[in-house]
Amino acid sequence: TEQLDGKHVTVAGLGVSGIPAAKALLRLGARVTAVNGGDGDGPRRQAAELEELGAEVRLGDDRTLPEGTDLVVTTPGFKPDSPLFLAAAEAGVPVWGDVELAWRLRGPESPPWLAVTGTNGKTTTVQMLASILRAAGLRTAAVGNIGVSLVDVVLEREPYDGLDVLAVELSSYQLHWAPSLRPHSAAVLNLAPDHLDWHGSMKAYAADKGRIYEGNEVACVYNVADPATEELVREADVVEGARAIGFTLAAPAPSQLGVVDGILVDRAFIDDRQKQAQELAEVTDVTPPAPHNIANALAAAALARAYGVAPAAVRDGLRAFRPDAHRMTHVADIGGVAYVDDSKATNTHATEASLAAYDSVVWIAGGLAKGATFDELVEGAAPRLRAAVLLGADRRLIAEALARHAPDVPVVDLERTDTGAMAAAVREAAALSQPGDTVLLAPACASMDMYVNYNARGDAFAEAVRALASET
Ligand code: ADP
Repeated sequence: TEQLDGKHVTVAGLGVSGIPAAKALLRLGARVTAVNGGDGDGPRRQAAELEELGAEVRLGDDRTLPEGTDLVVTTPGFKPDSPLFLAAAEAGVPVWGDVELAWRLRGPESPPWLAVTGTNGKTTTVQMLASILRAAGLRTAAVGNIGVSLVDVVLEREPYDGLDVLAVELSSYQLHWAPSLRPHSAAVLNLAPDHLDWHGSMKAYAADKGRIYEGNEVACVYNVADPATEELVREADVVEGARAIGFTLAAPAPSQLGVVDGILVDRAFIDDRQKQAQELAEVTDVTPPAPHNIANALAAAALARAYGVAPAAVRDGLRAFRPDAHRMTHVADIGGVAYVDDSKATNTHATEASLAAYDSVVWIAGGLAKGATFDELVEGAAPRLRAAVLLGADRRLIAEALARHAPDVPVVDLERTDTGAMAAAVREAAALSQPGDTVLLAPACASMDMYVNYNARGDAFAEAVRALASET
């Protein structure tokens, strides 16, 4: 931690990851300049807070590198090709993300990191993992991209509040800027196009995700059904003896975890004399027991087993797990129709998993597409769609895909991006539904065109559903 004393560090961006990073750097004796493109009320308030602590803050210019910068610490808002980083590269100044900073600041007492990334299921898997570790009597915390700053954990909980092991969620952005990270073990759950506007290409996105396997000590956990994840394991430079461990919804091969007759089983972490697969839990121990969620449970179990957790604790931990709000959350049944809030389905891959869980769906979708295309999603889901109701900025892209691949499915385009549109969408969906159907909010898009975040979008849906229920 002495390494930053007296250094001039430029923090790129304020907000939920910039503020904790800037505060930590100040505490470590660095001279901090925070730069932020926006200069509205929010940034101004945050700037005042940091200035009080001794930082300099520059609002309205996030393109030029402040004179004398030794190091840039960045937040996810900045794309890799941002002018600020080009200037840093030219000046030979390194760029770290908040995870790199936390990794470098962690002391010798640091608990090992069990890390999870993937396009979808990260938060769920990390929470399942933490639940399993707790069931094993270990002291742990779910941290990182899940909303708990790793820098805060490393600095403020010194010596880690007695934590034994960390369950760490990492985003592709964080991995991009974390070159020296070396987790104990790690999992890439799946790889589907997302955030390509940030990373530049699918190849670059996959390579960033793959960084999580670098230096793994015990297990690199991959998804057998997603060969690209195994490819990343093969390319990684790991500690000698670290193993590739697959998870699959089918019967597992040796060195895999999988499912046999409704039982989650382990054929990876068993000793040589034990010919039989080790039973871990039943499929019905997992909530909800949808296929994608069983995959998440297997990945969490693999990381826990890599850390030495016993089979009974895997079962108890999975039983104790409950998913967060807005993840396939059942809101109400009205007139034989189920209303489900999966506002967290912010990309096509998540929405695909969501639509596959129901037989006949009135689908509410739309928002910010982030460069995605919808043809594959719509083509696959077409047989399950009763109707679709579209809203949000990029709804036309979904409408066009529906016209191409599901011409018989009735589509209502609300042509709205105001916050009241969700109530209208729920009413339209109700009118189009029949008993036995599911009205599913699974937008396949980000929410920021209409709402502050996916929580607000899901809340708007639930509120509209409850209003509808109270009328009938
Ligand atoms: P993340 O933290 O990666 O965004 P979450 O666990 O919050 O993932 O889930 C996000 C969305 O993805 C949810 O809508 C959920 O239904 C869907 N989902 C969860 N796990 C998977 C998976 N393994 N494959 C595909 N979709 C998934």
